[in-house]
Amino acid sequence: MSPPLASRIALVTGASRGIGYATARALAKAGAHIVAVARTQGGLEELDDEIRQDGGSTTLVPLNLSDFDGIARLGAALHERHGKLDILVGNAGVAGPSSPLGHIDLKPWTDVIAVNVTANFQLIRCMEPLLRKSDAGRAVFITSAASNKAQAYLGPYAASKAALETLVRVWANETASTRIRVNLFSPGPVRTRMRATVFPGEDPLTLETPEQVAQFIVPMCMPAWGETGKLYDYKTRTLQSFRAPA
Ligand code: NAP
Repeated sequence: MSPPLASRIALVTGASRGIGYATARALAKAGAHIVAVARTQGGLEELDDEIRQDGGSTTLVPLNLSDFDGIARLGAALHERHGKLDILVGNAGVAGPSSPLGHIDLKPWTDVIAVNVTANFQLIRCMEPLLRKSDAGRAVFITSAASNKAQAYLGPYAASKAALETLVRVWANETASTRIRVNLFSPGPVRTRMRATVFPGEDPLTLETPEQVAQFIVPMCMPAWGETGKLYDYKTRTLQSFRAPA
């Protein structure tokens, strides 16, 4: 029997490590061809090695997602090569500065907004025509509980994830009558480099692994997944129409 995502094309951003890496690997195990985007060539090559060992295939795309024209070029290349996109996982993100708002310069603010919000907006713009060509286009964006906790000292990150969530819900409403399904995934604390940078005193062994979390992202990428405009909260294992109060 062929695997459930055989002949499906999955674009995963932030695939060089952490949650994106584990999700790309899990999607590949389910049979998808992975288009892996990140800046770090070494991480992408490691992913490629592991996926090949599992019998899968990848296209590596070393790209800074702040290069918005680069995202548009990627869309054009995918159109030329595959004529469609089946799965988009908007996972790449940066934590930005851990400081009071008044101490944050404009540049770190715009850097966080560029990667966490504008790059996803550009992905939506450039990938929607390709997802429409799929018989079951699926998009999942990785958000954070910081979005509605208004967490002190993580202002740019919290604001960027709140903006992302609204953007994604708008897109879900706009595509509700199509075959595309658009959802959010909130992983809670996960053992990654980002988490260790923001919370250096935390024991990483107390946290969920990216591999554990990825197992819950994969079903949202399957053709059988019918929900749209929802947020899956990994911590509570619930699918929510709107964010529950923090
Ligand atoms: P991570 O280990 O730091 O991985 C982040 C990924 O994003 C890397 O692959 C990184 O690749 C990529 N990335 C960052 N900036 C980029 C850029 N300018 N261009 C291209 N790729 C870029 O972090 P993670 O914890 O796995 O985070 C993944 C997602 O989960 C993020 O959206 C994060 O906000 C969210 N999240 C994480 C946690 C947690 O506890 N870990 C909790 C809630 C939400 P390169 O550096 O190679 O470019």
